[in-house]
Amino acid sequence: MTSMSQSFYIHTFGCQMNQADTEIVTALLVGEGFVPAADEAAADIVLLNSCAVRENAEERLGNILTQLKGRKRRRKELIIGVLGCVPQFERERMFSDYPFVDFIVGPDNYRELPGIIANSREQKRLARLDYDQQETYAGIDPVRTGTISAFLPVMRGCNNHCAFCVVPVTRGRERSVGFERVVAEVAALAAAGFREVTLLGQNVNSWHDAEKRLDFAGLLEGVSIAAPQMRIRFTTSHPKDISESLVKVIAARANICNHIHLPVQSGSSRMLDLMKRGHTREEYLDRIAMIRRHIPDAAITTDLIAGFCTETEEEHQQTLSLMEEVGFDSSFMFHYSVRPGTWAARNLPDDVPEAVKKRRLQEIIDLQNSISREKYQGDIGQTVEVLAESESKRSSSQLMGRTMTNRAVVFSRGECNPGDTLLVKITGATSATLTGEAV
Ligand code: SAM
Ligand code: SF4
Repeated sequence: MTSMSQSFYIHTFGCQMNQADTEIVTALLVGEGFVPAADEAAADIVLLNSCAVRENAEERLGNILTQLKGRKRRRKELIIGVLGCVPQFERERMFSDYPFVDFIVGPDNYRELPGIIANSREQKRLARLDYDQQETYAGIDPVRTGTISAFLPVMRGCNNHCAFCVVPVTRGRERSVGFERVVAEVAALAAAGFREVTLLGQNVNSWHDAEKRLDFAGLLEGVSIAAPQMRIRFTTSHPKDISESLVKVIAARANICNHIHLPVQSGSSRMLDLMKRGHTREEYLDRIAMIRRHIPDAAITTDLIAGFCTETEEEHQQTLSLMEEVGFDSSFMFHYSVRPGTWAARNLPDDVPEAVKKRRLQEIIDLQNSISREKYQGDIGQTVEVLAESESKRSSSQLMGRTMTNRAVVFSRGECNPGDTLLVKITGATSATLTGEAV
């Protein structure tokens, strides 16, 4: 097969897992002689790595596809492919709504991409959407966009069945990358000069290596020992699966960041039951208490959904009260959108009016902003360890970095460069950023 040095550009939507997948797809294409284009306009092939988790990500995909339609009309040889979660469950609609799309490829079929591109001139409307229970892309060396912090998927798919969530439909059953391979990849990242790695999985704390009889606590410990000079992060943890042994490992190992992202979705036990999350409000609070017992200064962040099916005003208030009780450091907040193929789409009425969903979401956002502002202001006067990641957006004389608790800090750079770890005295705070001076 020959690519004749065709260039490609990838639009990436959605979560860190999709960003990591884009790095894998880039490696697969570069390995076959394709070259990355500087921007979409210069590319012979435009790929859209799609996200189906919420309706608005799908809408943004639609907007870009609509722009590409005009481009393809002007340049017939342009190749357009949609990858990832959306085509996995919208196969028919992809080709009927966007007939100019050349091919669609699901998350387990990226190895076939170079061949699919090569054939796309002869064979129109190719679709590769097979689930592959074994595929982890282990052994492919991703082409990473950064040099300081890396994402490393340690598992793919999800075996849970949360009523609102399309991920089990789009990404299939859960599978883990083996212990030895993960540890070797982290060691290689450390040797290449990376300062931080985030281990990724939709439900990362159900990672396991059956042969080695290890769970995620064992993996985290192994990784932390293999790369003692690196910061280790991980996401996403599911409340029902976060174990005391895992929390003890985080507490014991200095290079594992004391930040746990623990999506709760709702503060109402009835909602949690309807969402099929597998725990109650009280059980969630017990987990938070357990975490705080072992790691008193842990940052805890979450995901929240406003206006899930049949949610009452009182149940919404329970979400607000849970937020105050836990005091989340920050949150990703969404209003519910029906996702085709989910249990909720088939069985529950989407009966909270759009305006009510939006108003509840705004109340959640306002409360989170005030909690975060208070927490961040509590850091003023403290000296914290920061890993510098990049120049700040506003000025090249300032750097942006993160604390172990994942707070963004902007500080005057002095002699420092991205990649340095340094102490910063915090002098100011908003609800999303700390400011300070290197000490
Ligand atoms: N695996 C993670 C977990 O269980 O917590 C979450 C993965 S999901 C890709 C990220 C977040 O998107 C969820 O935690 C949820 O808050 C949100 N989400 C998922 N489906 C949604 C829907 N149909 N409407 C609104 N938000 C949704
Ligand atoms: Fe979706 Fe639930 Fe799996 Fe998270 S744990 S990916 S919300 S099904």
